Amino acid sequence: MQDRFVYADNAATTPVAAEVLEKMMPFLTTQYGNPSTLYTLGHSSHDAVEEARKEVALLMNAQPEEIFFTGCGSESDNMALRGWLHSPQNKGKRHLITTAIEHHAILYTAQALEKEGFDVTYLPVDKNGMVELDKLAAAIRPDTALVSVMFANNEIGTINPIGKIGALCREKGVIFHTDAVQAYGHVPVDVKAMNIDMLSLSGHKINAPKGVGAIYIRKGLSPAPFITGGGQEKGRRSGTENVAGIVALGEAARLKRIHMEKESAYLRSLSKKLIDRVLKLPQTILTGHPTERLPGTCSFCINAIEGESLVLMLDMNGICASTGSACSTGSLDPSHVLLGIGLSHEISHGSLRLTLGPQNTEEDVDYILERLEQVVTTLRAMSPIWHAE
Ligand SMILES: *Cc1c(COP(=O)(O)O)cnc(C)c1O
Repeated sequence: MQDRFVYADNAATTPVAAEVLEKMMPFLTTQYGNPSTLYTLGHSSHDAVEEARKEVALLMNAQPEEIFFTGCGSESDNMALRGWLHSPQNKGKRHLITTAIEHHAILYTAQALEKEGFDVTYLPVDKNGMVELDKLAAAIRPDTALVSVMFANNEIGTINPIGKIGALCREKGVIFHTDAVQAYGHVPVDVKAMNIDMLSLSGHKINAPKGVGAIYIRKGLSPAPFITGGGQEKGRRSGTENVAGIVALGEAARLKRIHMEKESAYLRSLSKKLIDRVLKLPQTILTGHPTERLPGTCSFCINAIEGESLVLMLDMNGICASTGSACSTGSLDPSHVLLGIGLSHEISHGSLRLTLGPQNTEEDVDYILERLEQVVTTLRAMSPIWHAE
């Protein structure tokens, strides 16, 4: 059945780029010095980390000294929320605003902060998954410490009006964090023009390996550190640096700076072809914003299909895809994102996310379409709830 292997789950993770692997390799072999040491071997590790910091900064128009390396995007999100609410600079303000459709790295952290006694507002989003400015403005209070709104959603690809949200927060004097794990390296990000105070990103979503991330913290802000020790990363995140991972992240950022525009135009055209054809399947909808969306994200709900069955059958055809519904985990709850944009439980169960990357080809898309159409027909033929109109 498997005539081809197509990886179409680039929002879950991405393959490491060949150039990235090549650039990091010396730091896994001959250049193993600790960046903190005084002798020459350590200097080359130190210099490589600082070079990577410059590259990561450049792709978001930040200063290198505003970039701090972490272990992953989730850690960066935790540092922004927990670190800022516990920072002496926050002056005891106890209110956090976020949205109902954030990644769990934000949502579960916000819930943990609620248990500590902080007050959290989960803003609803519109039917396309966008934050509404007037609702955000109305939610800001004198004791609001932080607004955290994701740049782009990982399930439905919707891109928020981050520049407008940043301007509003700056005007109201509230610190603004954005989880840009899906956006950084995929769409233009400018922390200065967009008035962003803190931003999270992750290596493995931009063709660097898993286990390295970064946070941008605007100069002058000091979230409280939660890993104390040797004082690496200017005391913000102790622990000997993941030099190879950091070098890889820097190289990935450099490559995205050079290729992002071309890649996103290419992905937009591939996605358009995929989306247009999938929407020809009866009783199928696109989820997320029709135009303000990540270039490679194609997300749907297909009526009378169970998302998990669909993903397993696509896997038998060599296609990696994902769904927001997961019955095998014992819960019948569909994704909080799909419920958050107002879809019913029933519709949400048929969710399918195909996320394309620059390595995907036209032939990949043709193959996905051919097999998806067959699989949907097969599953619907077995479904007790399918009624063709
Ligand atoms: C993947 C992802 C994360 C988590 O990043 P990790 O590096 O896997 O911890 C956080 N937020 C969003 C939007 C993501 O897509």
